[in-house]
Amino acid sequence: MKEQLYTIPVNEAIDKNEECLFCTLNKKVEEDILNYILGPSYMEEDIRSETDKIGFCKKHYSQMYKAQNRLGVALILSTHMKNIRQNLNEIFKDELNETNHTIKKNLFRKNEEQTKSVEYISEIENSCYACKRMESRMNSYIDTFFYLWKKEDDFREKILNSKGFCLEHFNMIIKEGKKKLSSDKYKDFLTVLVPLELKNLDLLQEDIDWFIQKFDYRFKDEPWKNSKDALQRTILKVSSENVEE
Ligand SMILES: [Zn+2]
Ligand SMILES: [Zn+2]
Repeated sequence: MKEQLYTIPVNEAIDKNEECLFCTLNKKVEEDILNYILGPSYMEEDIRSETDKIGFCKKHYSQMYKAQNRLGVALILSTHMKNIRQNLNEIFKDELNETNHTIKKNLFRKNEEQTKSVEYISEIENSCYACKRMESRMNSYIDTFFYLWKKEDDFREKILNSKGFCLEHFNMIIKEGKKKLSSDKYKDFLTVLVPLELKNLDLLQEDIDWFIQKFDYRFKDEPWKNSKDALQRTILKVSSENVEE
């Protein structure tokens, strides 16, 4: 089956000309997912049963808590808690049973094997419905990116005039390009992408340094140039974290 391509959102994101195309796309998907989850319509049954099972990560609970739908969050948490309690009760019933001496199953056995309860709790800690959805969409965006890179001069031109990528996503496309492009195409790709990234890191360095200078009273009447949002942009560039208000 052919993967779905997202040429429209990818083109729209590149037209925004922010610090990283993939961070722009990620932000939109994240907003859409959270709006859907906390929105007025009921979640589809299969989605609901997945959030009941795996829940969300710290970051997304935090974002959900800040959104203006406390009842919605409480309803999601209530059924997630039910699911966790039910599973823990079942697992512990088995593991706390001292007559159950099968290796791995008994919680009191000191061996290297992880018990089912430890595995289950770690799984809950590390799983997030929103992150999972974002990750799978990101894979489609990567496919779309390389599809457009190969096929459309226009798109290549836009990338070459863009601000490059955050470090995480720059790393990602270096690795993915190796799989998705032929040796020749990969070489061409890196020959233009690396200078683009380095040039944009230089420009951002100027912006953050000018931002610092502006704290010096001697420069307070000087124009901000591109530095007003240099702090947010630099944080995004080096960590892919979006700290916009
Ligand atoms: Zn990024
Ligand atoms: Zn998450």
